[in-house]
Amino acid sequence: MRAISTYDFTADSQTCISCMRCMCDCPAHARKVNGLMAKIASAAIAKECNVRKEAELFL
Ligand code: SF4
Repeated sequence: MRAISTYDFTADSQTCISCMRCMCDCPAHARKVNGLMAKIASAAIAKECNVRKEAELFL
């Protein structure tokens, strides 16, 4: 998304889509999510994510 500034490495909240790729790809592990918030989010989506869904195509 080019949301991260190459000048000061801050993320533009208007451009960032919260995909978390920067957390996975950063070799210095500079980006982190609060552990408690991650657990809350994980618990909130666990039910939906535990059920296999068929692929759908939306045109
Ligand atoms: S969460 Fe995704 S869109 Fe946002 S800064 Fe990281 S990689 Fe870019």
